Amino acid sequence: MASCIFCKIIKGDIPAFKLFESEKVLAFLDIQPLSYGHAVCAMLPVMIILVIPKHHGALLTDIPDEALSEILRKPVAKKVAVASGAEQYNLLQNNGRLAHQIVDHVHFHVIPKPSPEEGLGISWPAK
Ligand code: 5GP
Repeated sequence: MASCIFCKIIKGDIPAFKLFESEKVLAFLDIQPLSYGHAVCAMLPVMIILVIPKHHGALLTDIPDEALSEILRKPVAKKVAVASGAEQYNLLQNNGRLAHQIVDHVHFHVIPKPSPEEGLGISWPAK
């Protein structure tokens, strides 16, 4: 969709730090890191990753099963979270305005939850 910011990222018209790409899925860094998490690293930024289907659609019900399956069942989200240095993470999807969705292209937020032993979550880029 021409006016969609995530479709522009898919096309390469807007820059993004891309982590994973397949025929149906793209993962890239969120433009805003979130600064919270474990008490020990509460002041340090945690890089949030967005995982999106390349098919444009605002809501989960608009997305073909194959793309959702690739994101969720073949664990793309897990792969990119581990690449961020954290074995544990939240996988969040805001589905609709009432659920605080702002960008109308389905996306999953992967929010790493690094433990202090994992290096305070700042082992970016992935080794
Ligand atoms: P939502 O509230 O719709 O679930 O989240 C949208 C997310 O997209 C936010 O976390 C926001 O920071 C991210 N975002 C918005 N515009 C851009 C952009 O141009 N580039 C990147 N990488 N992330 C964006």
